[in-house]
Order: sequence, then C-alpha cells, then structure tokens
Amino acid sequence: MYKLLTFSMAVLFSTLLTGQQAPTGMCGTSAEDQLQIRDRMFKNREELGHIVQTRTGAIRYIPVNYHLVAKADRTGRLRIGNVFTNLCAINKIYEDQEIQFYIRNINFVNNDFLYDNPSSDLGRGWATSLANNNRNAVNIICASKANAAEPGVLAFYNPGGDYIVSGNAQVNGNGTTLAHEIGHFFSLAHTFFGWEATTYTCNTPTPTTVNLGGQVVNVEYADRNKRINGQLSCKISSDGFCDTPADYNLGFGWVGGNCAYVGCAKDPDNLPLDPEEKNIMSYFLNCLQFFSAEQKAAILRDYSSTARSYLRTVTYTPQADVNQAVKIIAPTDGDLTEGFNIVKLEWEAVPNATHYMVEMGEGSLTIKNTGFITRRTDTTLTNLVSNKRYVWRVFAYNANSFCHTQPNPVTFTTGRFPVSSDNPGADVARVNWYQAGNGQVVMEVNSPIESESHFEFFNLEGKSCSKFSRRLQVGSNAVEVDLGAAGTYVYRVTHSTGSITGKVFIQ
Ligand SMILES: [Zn+2]
Repeated sequence: MYKLLTFSMAVLFSTLLTGQQAPTGMCGTSAEDQLQIRDRMFKNREELGHIVQTRTGAIRYIPVNYHLVAKADRTGRLRIGNVFTNLCAINKIYEDQEIQFYIRNINFVNNDFLYDNPSSDLGRGWATSLANNNRNAVNIICASKANAAEPGVLAFYNPGGDYIVSGNAQVNGNGTTLAHEIGHFFSLAHTFFGWEATTYTCNTPTPTTVNLGGQVVNVEYADRNKRINGQLSCKISSDGFCDTPADYNLGFGWVGGNCAYVGCAKDPDNLPLDPEEKNIMSYFLNCLQFFSAEQKAAILRDYSSTARSYLRTVTYTPQADVNQAVKIIAPTDGDLTEGFNIVKLEWEAVPNATHYMVEMGEGSLTIKNTGFITRRTDTTLTNLVSNKRYVWRVFAYNANSFCHTQPNPVTFTTGRFPVSSDNPGADVARVNWYQAGNGQVVMEVNSPIESESHFEFFNLEGKSCSKFSRRLQVGSNAVEVDLGAAGTYVYRVTHSTGSITGKVFIQ
C-alpha cells in the first residue's frame, strides 16, 4: 500500500514538474508513519495535557547527531560547514519555543547502500543500526538523496527507526526542510494530513473523509466550531490541531508568489479554505516560517514524554560563544611549502572553541573537498601532490556556538620535491584522548596515512580489556572506546608504520 501510495505521489510530482514552475519537492514521511506519529501526539495530549508552552526564559538544549554519509571510497560526503549553517537556521525557527539544538556529534559514515539510497531495504537497515548505536541525540542522516526511487522526496522521518534522513542538497542555510522533519520527530503530522495521496479538485464535492494508506482520515472543516458527534472537528481531523486552518495539500505545486492562497478550495460545507501558508508543516515550500501554538505545545509534550527521555539524560550547560576567527600559523595565503609529502597545518587556539573543522580542496574548496574535525591546533598531511595549489581553512566552534561566519580559505602551493622527516615519530600516528564519561574515552588519532590500525587496551595487571581494528583516514580520527569502568588503562595503537603506547585515566 505504501509503495502504491508513494508511486501516485511521485506521478503527481512529475506532472507538476513538467506543467508549471512550482517550488518542488516533498517530504517522504509515509502515510503509515504519519498515522503512528499522530497517534503519539494524541497519546501525549491525553497523558501530558497539563504541559503547555509558556515562556520560562530557560532554554531547552537538545542534542543532535549529524551522520555525514559518503560512498565506501569516502567521496560524495556533504561538506561539514553545511552542518553549522543548517543547524543555525533550524535554531532560528525553534528559538521562540526556547529550544536550541546543539551538536552532540558529527559522524562520518562510509557506506554505499546508505549513500545511494537510504530508503532501500539495505539502506534502511543501515540507517536503523546507525540510529540504534547513537541513541543519545536526534539522529539526522545526510545522504546523496533521501529516496533514489522518488527523486522528489527531499527528506523524511522514520518513526520505527526514530531517525531523520535528508538529501545532502537540503542541508543548507535554509533550515525549513529539517525543521519540518524535526516537527515529525516531535509528533507533528502535516497540516494537510490525509491528503498526501489524494489530489483535491474543486470540480467534485469535497468528501468528508479521505483514504490514506488504508486508513480513513476525517477531512477538516474550515469552521473552527464545527462539531462531529459532539467533538470539535478540528481537534480530531487531519493533523488534530485547531489553530492550523484546514488545508487539503493546497501548497503542493502552489505557484502564487506572495504566499497568499487564492484558489477555489472549499470544505464539505462549501466554506472557502484559507490555509496557513507559512506553517512549517505545510507544503507551501517557499513560504514556511513558523509552528502554531498548539504544534509547539505538542512538540514540548513529546520532548517531555518517556519515549524521549534519552534526549534529557544530560543536563546540558551551554558553553561560552566562540567569537574570534582562527588565525592561521602555516601555511598562510600564498605560501610555497618546503616539500609536498609532509605538510604541517597549524593554527592558533581560539577562546571557547572545543573543536576545529579543517577543510581543504584543490584550487577551490568545492574541488576534491576533504574535511575533518579535530580538537588539536595542528595536523600533518602526507597525501598531498607536488606542485599543486591547495586551499584550506579552519573554523573554530563548540557544541552550541557555530553560527559565526565561516572564514574564506587561504591558498598555498606544495613544493616540487619530497622532504625527509626530521621527526621519526611523524610516521606514526599521534594520539590524544578525552574522557567521554561512563567509562568511555575518545581517542583522537592523528594519522599521517590511511591505514588499518589495531587498538588494544590493558588494565594495570596487563589483562586485555578491549581490542579492535579501525581503518584510519589521513588527518584526525575520533575513535570512541567503551572500557566499562573507571581506572587506569594502557593503550597500544599499532599502525602500519609502527606502534604507539600510552595511558588513559578514567575517573
Ligand atoms: Zn513531512
């Protein structure tokens, strides 16, 4: 049923595409999934109805993981900087609800199935296990597209796996697509719920119910006081909110320029419809701006529900803003490096920054773009080509401060000849570690080459506590290790060019 339904939506979509210049695209959250989402909203309203949205002055900080998926060969990944501009835009939309999302983790995933089609059976399997392994935040998976079979699908929320998927093109400075999916995540259905698979036409009388995925959904009336069997129609029909006017998916393909619907749609009582074009959960894609008061209350109830307790386990203390740009030490603009095989990138620490995004490209940031995140203020690259122009930049941020301007890149050219390393240790990975709480550490391994590496941890009696292998990329790699308990451990990282040992202390 779902397949049939989405197929008809796709056909409608392509008809519109060829017909008029409409703002295109749709949300792929299926009918069945939306019924499940709306049931959660109804249940929350029944059980947590006492929770209402009032301004308290206290911001709720909600963790988000962005999973940036590339092909197995590591190409095609979304540029990291888009995460910051996107989440910044989403936060502007949620600001009046006193909700701010902070970055729990930016995770690199290399997986062809997930990259090519997160909606395929295999892609869905990978997405679910990715979300299950990261149940500490709202999980947003960014892939080449949201659904390869239906290119019109921009993004969707999957309530079964409890994750959001977005096509890379939607993760940008316009936060409305993901603000909409986060709306689904927090129990909101579309304002036109019920009409996803039925095209409204003024030529036939408006039905009192529509069929969606085998379920009958009551059609919402324009009159807010209309009662059916004693119950307010607007409260039980469509999205279940009385402060979102009736909408029969009138925004889909809407070409009006000024976000004021003037079509002929009428409800079953023949009253004209006046949808809210600016509601984030509508399909007036060029108009989206805000949530209604009842939607905001539903978001807050869902956030407060038991099912979302994993978002509230950590009481997040916001960090001070990063308000200073990174000063590059080397190579600076116009530099010619001594060699090409060992190039050290170095910059000054920035107050309040916990992380640095390093981004690089060949001649331009958009050509052969590579990037990584580090807590260090330097990194050594050994994979550059001789006599080539590179651009690079560093962006300093912390989990809740990332909206400041991303710097312009600086350019350098690599030398023509190799240089020999005066530091024999440079050929072996360097390791920093950070306690991540609950017996966990994050090992930050700076690797000069791409290599399969073996990690082993021993307690002070010499007993092996954890061992595993990981393919390290050039530059900084964050490896989370769960050692289970507080204590002192000895680690050994064996790399193809040698090994390095040290101690970690977990309190
Ligand atoms: Zn949607």
